[in-house]
Amino acid sequence: MFQKILVANRGEIAARVISTARRMGIATVAVYSDADARALHVAMADEAVRIGPPPAAESYLNARVIIEAARRTGAQAIHPGYGFLSENPDFVRQVQEVGLVFIGPSAEAIQAMGLKDAAKALMETTGVPVVPGNHGPSQDPAFLAAEAAAIGYPVLIKARAGGGGKGMRRVERAEDFVAALASARREAEAAFGDPSCLIEKYVSHPRHIEIQVFADSQGNVVHLFERDCSLQRRHQKVIEEAPAPGMTEAVRTAMGQAAVEAARAIGYRGAGTVEFIADASGPLRTDGFWFMEMNTRLQVEHPVTEAITGLDLVELQLRVAAGEPLPFRQEDLRIDGHAFEARLYAEDVAKGFLPATGRLTHLRFPQAASFTRGPVRIDSGVRPGDEITPWYDPLIAKIIVHAPDRQAALTRLAATLDRCQVAGCTTNRDALAALARHDGFRLGRVDTGLIARDLNLLTSAEPTPPEAVALAALVSLGLHTSTMSTDPWARRDGWRAWGRAKWHATLSHDETAFSLCISQLGERAFHVQGDAIDLHLDLLDADPGVLRFASQGVQSDAQTVRDRDRITLFLRGRAHEFTLPDPLDTSTHDLPKGSGIVAPMPGLVAKLSVRPGDRVSKGSPLLVLEAMKMEHGLTAPRDGIVAEVLVVAGEQVADGTLLVRLEDADA
Ligand code: ADP
Repeated sequence: MFQKILVANRGEIAARVISTARRMGIATVAVYSDADARALHVAMADEAVRIGPPPAAESYLNARVIIEAARRTGAQAIHPGYGFLSENPDFVRQVQEVGLVFIGPSAEAIQAMGLKDAAKALMETTGVPVVPGNHGPSQDPAFLAAEAAAIGYPVLIKARAGGGGKGMRRVERAEDFVAALASARREAEAAFGDPSCLIEKYVSHPRHIEIQVFADSQGNVVHLFERDCSLQRRHQKVIEEAPAPGMTEAVRTAMGQAAVEAARAIGYRGAGTVEFIADASGPLRTDGFWFMEMNTRLQVEHPVTEAITGLDLVELQLRVAAGEPLPFRQEDLRIDGHAFEARLYAEDVAKGFLPATGRLTHLRFPQAASFTRGPVRIDSGVRPGDEITPWYDPLIAKIIVHAPDRQAALTRLAATLDRCQVAGCTTNRDALAALARHDGFRLGRVDTGLIARDLNLLTSAEPTPPEAVALAALVSLGLHTSTMSTDPWARRDGWRAWGRAKWHATLSHDETAFSLCISQLGERAFHVQGDAIDLHLDLLDADPGVLRFASQGVQSDAQTVRDRDRITLFLRGRAHEFTLPDPLDTSTHDLPKGSGIVAPMPGLVAKLSVRPGDRVSKGSPLLVLEAMKMEHGLTAPRDGIVAEVLVVAGEQVADGTLLVRLEDADA
């Protein structure tokens, strides 16, 4: 076994790998960019080496510097994690050329599966079923449009170098094909430096089911059952589970065999995943699944497989890379219970899953295992006070639960999500919790369109409870802090010679402004009134950080976090955010509503579709912003004339930058 390894990654996955290595007594070397100098993965490793500035291209993708870091620190092997260099055959060759071990498959195996078109062609020859479509070399738009017509709409355009759902466009009608192809090619070029695309039949009612495979250098190949990753947004996974709902032994065996076949065809070694698309229009069938691609690395969602098999996949990776044979055969493996993983991201679901950034002013998770199995397991690469930057994936944590059956696991998932508290960044937590309680999902009726179809349901904010507004008002005035002093002059019980003390508070929540009148009735008793709120609140003794209060005969706990002009209040599993008016704030654009189009996140102006003087109607495209290598189209919020375009294509803009100004057509 290795004595020391280098982990060529960051965040949660680097911490995950380091955790297992440490348990096995293997020393670890972390690498970091300037943005990550104080990150968790750096703190966890025995040694850490700076590899460059924040942009990934100059740090986590810099093969030469990373290999040099391994040599300098005496590491014998490199674990690539996922993303970054994990599926880069040139990196594998360079690692091996200097006599180090790459913890993963051979460069040839990665290459064989690296491009979706070549991988599909190879699978066809081994008898693994593939999705019908064109994966030939021609990239001529007219030719591909003709192919799409021959395949029959709807079709899916995919970047052949694709990953993470990037460069993917579903096209319903022939007239939209050419524009969609151009957009997919732009996104693919930006993300992978390769604009080439293939066309596939869009499988209606698709389910994403993947098989975890493992192979050693002795030629043993097994599968560790399936994961269902059908809950997706923008072709990216949101909640994964194992086993797949409605899976039968016959289909599992057929898929498992196909996956093992695929791995054997390329002489695979280590952990890999063979992704299939399955037809969910009826029950799963042995002839109703097709190969999509193989990921030649560990997957983000590997913890659900660890939960149901009892294995540590990173440990297995290390053992196999060190030349040990797999310690089990296929027939030794059993499925134990059911597991889910939810990806908690800094993102704004209501704004089309836009990545969000910010400092995690408050981050609290319920009691859980981390980087190892448990009924509740939370794998996170960030700590309170850390920043979610625009440089990398905005993952905050993976919430993994395990229970004897699917219903129990799902109930545990919902309860766990309710107890995750994040302030400082917009997150998808509420949408995840709503998903965990979604009727169709609970019944196991999953397909990749579920989230998009029910988005309104998942983002519909319940009305803010009046207690939340009232508590936020108390917090805004500092009235919630207990004085409990015996000095009559220091007591804040609202006694005044002229009667009970009264205060006034203004705060806003989303677009709603509240103006409230607070009267103090006793040392810890208040009456809050205004804007349809009329409440009596008793603040009870509390642990530090937790505010226990009684209102209308019910006691509850709330947690409040104040960060300058922002108050976040956690109450009964929901987060409520309030802002206080800043009398000095002059930065807001005093433009009429719907006139200023501002950047909803930091990004690059990838395309400008309008010029000053253009007439636009509500919904017409204005420009395309690119963030996290994904394109986000911004459209006109109303009819009007473009008065000003304040940015140029190629410009990097900050969150909130005014991009385009509209004026009324008759102005
Ligand atoms: P990437 O490598 O970018 O993740 P994949 O090929 O793995 O791309 O596909 C990502 C997702 O897109 C799948 O999980 C599935 O939801 C959807 N998808 C892919 N191919 C098809 C198809 N032919 N029909 C319907 N949906 C598909």
